[in-house]
Amino acid sequence: MDEETQHPADPAGGHVACARCGTVADSDPPPPTWLCSMENGGREYFCEDCARTHIRAIESRLDSAWW
Ligand SMILES: [Zn+2]
Repeated sequence: MDEETQHPADPAGGHVACARCGTVADSDPPPPTWLCSMENGGREYFCEDCARTHIRAIESRLDSAWW
């Protein structure tokens, strides 16, 4: 019996989800419009909309704890 199931072990559980609003990326890795941020030693992704919000926050020099 041949099983051709290909399920690569992925600790992230597959597609990336936005750490802020929970939107799941259509592709893996997520599209370049997504923002990748290193927080507390972990990698977090933010969707295009949230990335825009973050960019504004960065431009406003808000503390990262705010987001
Ligand atoms: Zn988002």
